[in-house]
Amino acid sequence: MNLPQTDTPLFDRLRFVLVETSRPGNIGATARAMKNMGFSQLVLVNPRFDDALAREEAVAFASGAQDILSAARVVGSLEEALAGCNFAAAVSARLREFSPPVLTPRRFAARLHEQADLRAAVVFGNERFGLPNEAVQRCNVLINIPANPDYSSLNLAQAVQVISYEARMACAAEEPGAAESGIGFQGEVASRAQVEGMYAHLEQALIAIDFLDPDNPKKLMPRLKRLFARTELETEEVNILRGIASQILTARKRIRTKE
Ligand code: SAH
Repeated sequence: MNLPQTDTPLFDRLRFVLVETSRPGNIGATARAMKNMGFSQLVLVNPRFDDALAREEAVAFASGAQDILSAARVVGSLEEALAGCNFAAAVSARLREFSPPVLTPRRFAARLHEQADLRAAVVFGNERFGLPNEAVQRCNVLINIPANPDYSSLNLAQAVQVISYEARMACAAEEPGAAESGIGFQGEVASRAQVEGMYAHLEQALIAIDFLDPDNPKKLMPRLKRLFARTELETEEVNILRGIASQILTARKRIRTKE
């Protein structure tokens, strides 16, 4: 059965293709980088060693990502590696005269995330020679990792790490409490009604202690609202703030009755 493609998570829609890789250690480190970021599809096109996936160096660098190495496929051409994909991105340190459109890793990741019907491959070149022009021309886009112009060529597996990290972040950015926003939500997100209720309660308390003059409120409440808007309030935190407001009002009343 063909599931609607939009149901396929990004992690199952991105394939990592290494072309003519020389060092088995880089293949192992690629597997590790991919697994760290939640990806699993690895395809090798004509690696220097036929048994690259089983070599001691690959296994050592893969560390706990042996499962990615074991499931990796070795093929004889880029065409085979791209079978089943409807989008391919050449990952290259070199910008070329005849190049498809150039994207940063972040733009590429956003595009992949937004366009749920994309089944993409990211294609990495050899450690010394990079990707041949014919390979780049088979791709829809070229991803260039912005780097020091005097020393812009990353280690292969580190380039894989950057791309896979950005792809992961593109998914994370949508979830509440995503890494982008710092610590993020850990508990139940406060509803708008809860937050508004807290503002009203806080305002009442601030009036009671003469911090806020209702006849001349200035911009105190808008400023406080903006302050809270920069945080990501959880229900429990709203309740704490309301608890403080209640306590202020009770204490104020107690003092008034004594006066
Ligand atoms: N000397 C080669 C670079 C090889 S690095 C060249 O000039 O092309 C091995 C692979 O890592 C590259 O083929 C590419 O896929 C990736 N890579 C390294 N640095 C990169 C960068 N700054 N941007 C994009 N990909 C990069």
